[in-house]
Amino acid sequence: ATPIAILVGTGRGAQLGILITGPEALEQAEKIDTVVLDKTGTVTSGQMALSSVFTGDDTDSARAFQLVGALEAASEHPIARAITAHSDATGRVEAFRNHAGRGVTGIVEGVEVFAGRPGFAASRGVEIPAAFVEAVDAAERRGTAVVAGWAEAGETARVRAVFTVADTVRPEGADAVAALHALGLRTVLLTGDNPAIARSVAAEVGIDDVVAGVLPEQKVDEIARLRAAGHAVAMIGDGVNDAAALATADLGIAMGGGTDAAMHASDITLVRSDLRAAVDAVRLSRRTMGVIR
Ligand code: ADP
Ligand code: MG
Repeated sequence: ATPIAILVGTGRGAQLGILITGPEALEQAEKIDTVVLDKTGTVTSGQMALSSVFTGDDTDSARAFQLVGALEAASEHPIARAITAHSDATGRVEAFRNHAGRGVTGIVEGVEVFAGRPGFAASRGVEIPAAFVEAVDAAERRGTAVVAGWAEAGETARVRAVFTVADTVRPEGADAVAALHALGLRTVLLTGDNPAIARSVAAEVGIDDVVAGVLPEQKVDEIARLRAAGHAVAMIGDGVNDAAALATADLGIAMGGGTDAAMHASDITLVRSDLRAAVDAVRLSRRTMGVIR
């Protein structure tokens, strides 16, 4: 690799809004055969909106917004913003905990509250009653299901609300995926979200394979597994939870507008929040390395 060609490639990248950390990034980008994409914030806009709330017969939705709204006000997840947008809860939260890729817990005005993926309830020893299971299934067909529960005075904790939150695929998503395929690359959607919505997002933009329902540490395992199978893997992500997977990939690409953690873990940062810039990065690396040989 001649230093001049690398310099020219890096400079051209900067003009295209592609920030390249070093010469290895261009070399890696040229070799990749598989592109793994995070869903929320990468293939979708990440601007989640609340579309429904289901509460059981004995729970008022105002009570759900009061407790869960206050709890989520302490979280920075896009899901939390979708819920707090519909709540003016100001309740004090004590012992707040973020369980990465799972959910959140805390004590709101003396009441123990949790909110998270359906499996998060079970992991806390709380079963999901039949009426709520149906609400979860309905939510997962339309987006992400958030299950919330708490213990009212004198009662034990149980599931008392199911929220549906969803966002939309990026307008350039299908074009970008088609361009990756035209470059001979296989695409994989990797998400902590449920398989139903993951499959529907993948179908909407034309992504080849889906790995869904994974916890953040399993995202890393999946990248490692692909590499062990002989693939050269690029990972595109935006979130705090993607950082370890971005660092594990042969080439980590951080979406513009994403978290600092994702940028620090990546070899390439896209200035704009536009998936087509990731395609430009692969093309640029091939052109740059082609000149070198
Ligand atoms: P993704 O892989 O789609 O970026 P995450 O790993 O951030 O998703 O989260 C996985 C799942 O964990 C979410 O789909 C949601 O069910 C749950 N979750 C995470 N954070 C929260 C939160 N603050 N409130 C409710 N649920 C959450
Ligand atoms: Mg994301």
